[in-house]
Amino acid sequence: MTVERLAGLVAARQPCVVLTGAGISTESGIPDFRSPSGVWAQYDPMEYATIDAFLVDPVKVWDFYGKRLDMLASAQPNDGHRALAELERRGFVQAVITQNIDLLHERAGSRALIEVHGSIRTSSCLDCGTVVPFDEVLPLLPVPHCPTCGRVLKPDVVMFGELLPEAAIARATELAAEAQLLLVVGSSLEVYPVAGLPLETLAGGGSLAIVNRGPTQFDARASVRIDGGAGETLRALASCLPERP
Ligand SMILES: [Zn+2]
Repeated sequence: MTVERLAGLVAARQPCVVLTGAGISTESGIPDFRSPSGVWAQYDPMEYATIDAFLVDPVKVWDFYGKRLDMLASAQPNDGHRALAELERRGFVQAVITQNIDLLHERAGSRALIEVHGSIRTSSCLDCGTVVPFDEVLPLLPVPHCPTCGRVLKPDVVMFGELLPEAAIARATELAAEAQLLLVVGSSLEVYPVAGLPLETLAGGGSLAIVNRGPTQFDARASVRIDGGAGETLRALASCLPERP
């Protein structure tokens, strides 16, 4: 019943923009780093995931990241990623804004994609600017060095203490402000500035729908709230909607 209400909202309120967080990728076997059992409960992010830690000891940070890159390289998109890509092709989703760095939206076929925390697609040299694609970084592990100048590369994901990519945040803000519906999937909306995007949509007269396991600070302002898994919910959503808007 609630998925049908969500489908009604998606059909009626175009353009619909989707905002995804770690919760959409847990079904692909990628753990939510911020969950109570997640990586940041075991490893101090100040020691392994800040730009300062990287600048002081990039080898230690790569030792940590490298193990996770292997896992990300073998992860596959799930029904949630696939349903969003399909809804984009059918004209129901204008764009996907994601906090995830795992490339699974792209692999599932999403095209209008804004990655506000960067991605593992490339690593870069902070000295000479050489950019190395993911596939070429993997064989260089455990510590990938710049093929041009030899400095340790930095993954192009946003580390703690780094600014978010300005162009991506500007585009995400613009999309959220113009959306008639912002559909949040698998994000607890705790990390700013992404957590501010629902306010942009609401201020512009748009509606909010939330699919997330566990509460968010915006639940009371959401027109539809589904406490469920991303994969099954989005698959059901896609099957409730007509072929075209
Ligand atoms: Zn270099």
